Amino acid sequence: MLKTLKNPRCILAAITLGFGLLATFPSFGQNNISLPEIGDPSGALITPTQERALGEAFFRNLHGKLTINQDLEIQEYIESLGQRLSSNSDNPAQPFHFFVVVNPAINAFAGPGGYIGVNAGLILATETESELASVVAHEIAHVTQRHLYRAFEAASRMTIPSAAALLVSVLIGTQSAQLGQAAIIAAQAGSAQHRIDFTRDNEQEADRVGMHNLARSDFDPRGMPAFFERLDRTSRYYRDGLPEFLRTHPVTASRISDTRGRSEKFPYRQFLDSTGYLLTKAKLRVLIGSKPNEIIQYFESKLQRGTAIQKAVSHYGYALGLAAVRQYDRARPVLKELIDKNPDESAFINALAGMEVESGNIRTGLRLYRKALEQSPGQQVIVLDYAWALVQAGQNKPADKLLTDYLRNHQATPKSYRILSRAHGNQGHNAQAHRYLAEAYFLAGQTEPAIKHVQIALKEASGHRYLTALIEERLDVFSREEEEREKKEK
Ligand SMILES: [Zn+2]
Repeated sequence: MLKTLKNPRCILAAITLGFGLLATFPSFGQNNISLPEIGDPSGALITPTQERALGEAFFRNLHGKLTINQDLEIQEYIESLGQRLSSNSDNPAQPFHFFVVVNPAINAFAGPGGYIGVNAGLILATETESELASVVAHEIAHVTQRHLYRAFEAASRMTIPSAAALLVSVLIGTQSAQLGQAAIIAAQAGSAQHRIDFTRDNEQEADRVGMHNLARSDFDPRGMPAFFERLDRTSRYYRDGLPEFLRTHPVTASRISDTRGRSEKFPYRQFLDSTGYLLTKAKLRVLIGSKPNEIIQYFESKLQRGTAIQKAVSHYGYALGLAAVRQYDRARPVLKELIDKNPDESAFINALAGMEVESGNIRTGLRLYRKALEQSPGQQVIVLDYAWALVQAGQNKPADKLLTDYLRNHQATPKSYRILSRAHGNQGHNAQAHRYLAEAYFLAGQTEPAIKHVQIALKEASGHRYLTALIEERLDVFSREEEEREKKEK
């Protein structure tokens, strides 16, 4: 566990650091204003529509800097945890989007438009679901309490692509981004004291508001101080290696005692972790692990420990670990036994189906996906993997239909467009293949290749009026974004 704790303090510092920086950043004074200037501080800074556009641009931009999880089971879990909390927040009407960043560092952040990211490393550092919920509730509170106000104030003087890029580099602290460096230098020149006071206020408020939300959402309020205490203990080993700006935003003793004291006022009782939490942790451990043999050993040592569900989860992680090093013959019986013993848990049959496809047994995989759908009709978490298996089996039309139906009610991901692109490419639909590939690039924040492919699509679509019109519209959107992005760089 310890080896994953690379930046134990940044989780609570990253976002406030962002506000601090923006608060002291002198001017983003570009002439290309696409968001309104602010009137009075109490008024709305940007409209909900603009905030949504900024959030979407922020999320696309993030894809270029971080590995955003594309696994739908993991996505469904973090989304359900987030929605459980946000529906009990002070502003349940505020839209939220939760996602996992496939990165071992401990971090979580809130961006514009209610985009809340949680690193895999943070999820693995939690020991109970309430600890994880406490971090998510804290980030939700930053959004509902409008702590991003100052970020919007800065953003209101920029174009949306520029504002999104700035927010990404400041909130995520990407060292490579020039804008991030500039913001950090500007902040250092400003008043450090003001910055710290400002962020501490926000942090305290997010802790306080978040804790009430935890209790309302039926999580353990004690999860918050428990997680802070563990972070604090662990961070002592790393203090010397931490960058200055993280050292100035500590998980302070007063903060720990504040949350500890407040949590003790809630009546004590037992809270059980959900199966989704345990399965997600097992999957993430395999996903981000760099030493597969250590991961296999980790799960192997737990196979006979704990409750029935804990044992099942250890077997699941063990099988995933074996599959990751292509030991399919050892993984297969473990998963089969899990399915026999837990026929209602779809994750196990999904894992076996995925493993069969990966190992080249595509027909067996497809049969298992169909069985999984019979068992849990309407489950959406296997759609992408199932569609990808169909494409590999040459069943392009059913794959296309499956994905098109799915995308009517679900947010598209780069992966979903890549599969659609392949399904159409295999059928010789070149215009559609390039059009979907363009969408995949665009969602991943890569506007240049998006434009390149949408232009190819336009040529290939000649003669098809409806498709041409559709592609032209997208070319327009992509080009406008690229234009505004270039303005920023000049
Ligand atoms: Zn915070």
